[in-house]
Amino acid sequence: MDMGIKGRKAIVCAASKGLGRGCAEALAGEGVDLVINARTKSELEATAEEIRKKYGVKVTAVAVDVTTDEGRKQVLAACPEPDIIVNNAGGPPPGNFRDWNRDDWIKAIDANMLTPIEFIKASVDGMMKRGFGRIVNITSSSVKAPIDILGLSNGARSGLTGFVAGVARTTIRHGVTINGLLPGPFDTDRLRGTTKARAAKAGRSFDEEYAAAAKAHPAGRFGTAEEFGMMCAFLCSVHAGYMTGQNILMDGGQYPGTY
Ligand code: NAP
Repeated sequence: MDMGIKGRKAIVCAASKGLGRGCAEALAGEGVDLVINARTKSELEATAEEIRKKYGVKVTAVAVDVTTDEGRKQVLAACPEPDIIVNNAGGPPPGNFRDWNRDDWIKAIDANMLTPIEFIKASVDGMMKRGFGRIVNITSSSVKAPIDILGLSNGARSGLTGFVAGVARTTIRHGVTINGLLPGPFDTDRLRGTTKARAAKAGRSFDEEYAAAAKAHPAGRFGTAEEFGMMCAFLCSVHAGYMTGQNILMDGGQYPGTY
């Protein structure tokens, strides 16, 4: 299927690896020029070069912390009139809410709620004026099925989801959609890191822990960044223009509810 977005310009945040990279690659595969971002310059530049070579699109790498004002300013300076924005950043750490202070909450809200809102604020009016825009916020399955130890994530991402639910209804008449893409377990460095920590706690090897978790999942495996990216590319496509304010759960059937 031709997604109809060849030649468009996208900002993909937190995209040197994992789900962000999956989205960047899927968009590049559709002929979209990219501004990608992550903090670690060497990894980001290596990713940018691989995408350029593989897909022949223009890729600009901006190595900054996207959760800061200065970081976002540099990303937007590299792409002042984006057609597509994929909002993403690292997730907050797990823990017990009794141990979190105001600073912990502010950090989580800055990264997983206010950063995407700042990008929406900076770009949505221009998108509406030009008559086309796609904003995809990578959140988490925890928005739908909260995980107790991820309270910082549950809280901050739910705040973003509530905000988007309102604004997304005001932009669609001008060709701009805003949707959430909610990952369940995907095989990325982040998932491998948490699996390693769980294995150490349980006195098992990484391979045992990984295999047991994959086997217990309804799909018998974790998702791939490529699968995630393709769903993101569809949400950014011309075909998804009648869909806004939605939260698409992509978890291989892990959420057990009917609705
Ligand atoms: P990942 O494989 O660890 O990749 C994270 C990417 O984000 C890297 O490119 C990293 O590069 C970049 N990044 C992190 N913090 C950043 C910041 N402040 N500014 C700019 N770039 C930043 O993680 P992932 O699994 O793709 O997860 C992406 C998001 O999805 C996270 O918010 C995570 O909580 C959420 N999520 C993931 C899963 C899963 O199963 N994978 C499930 C639910 C939710 P640098 O470190 O160099 O900056």
